[in-house]
Amino acid sequence: MRKFDGETLVLASHNKGKLREIAELLAPYGIKVSSAADHGLEEPVEDQDTFIGNARIKAHYAAKATGLPALSDDSGISVDALDGAPGVYTADWAETPTGRDFPMAMRKTWDALEAKSAPSPRRAAFNCTFCLAWPDGHDELFVGKVDGQVVWPMRGTDGHGYDPIFMPDGYDITFGEMDGAEKNRISHRADAFAKLKACFE
Ligand code: IMP
Repeated sequence: MRKFDGETLVLASHNKGKLREIAELLAPYGIKVSSAADHGLEEPVEDQDTFIGNARIKAHYAAKATGLPALSDDSGISVDALDGAPGVYTADWAETPTGRDFPMAMRKTWDALEAKSAPSPRRAAFNCTFCLAWPDGHDELFVGKVDGQVVWPMRGTDGHGYDPIFMPDGYDITFGEMDGAEKNRISHRADAFAKLKACFE
């Protein structure tokens, strides 16, 4: 596995919730981080049908554009009774002509479960793939997952994205009600980071 031995790591994301969580996970390693927006990068088209494929697109685009190693995160929620949807299309389910609307996307997820009369608990998992890419084209990939269930109504205001409808196994609160530090101990991102951190040690 190639180690990160640079000074600055580009976080290849425009998603503020993800950027905050990744910066917190990286904090103990003393790495200087900059974001895609800091470098004036656009969001590349994510046209792959896997988390790995889309993570690679984002990390390689940022690494080539900046000349620096770049870390991307492709993630999403996969609901068992919806055959894994929205999955890699999690962000797409929130798209509207005026921007992303996550309450609408969560409602759409719940309505799809209701339409199927899916039995409870409505099992789901959050998946995360990290891609660490270098300007020379090399990359390393790390995947993580957290299991749980989709609940309704939405609960909590602490998180981002679909956090208010996801209750991880072993808890009676949603990610949206959970303290950020606690979420960063158990989340799909934390699980993937536990493997990625070997690159920084
Ligand atoms: P993408 O990785 O840019 O394709 O987008 C991932 C989508 O999954 C976004 O819409 C996120 O809001 C959602 N997502 C990923 N991780 C989380 C999380 O930790 N909590 C809530 N939503 C998430």
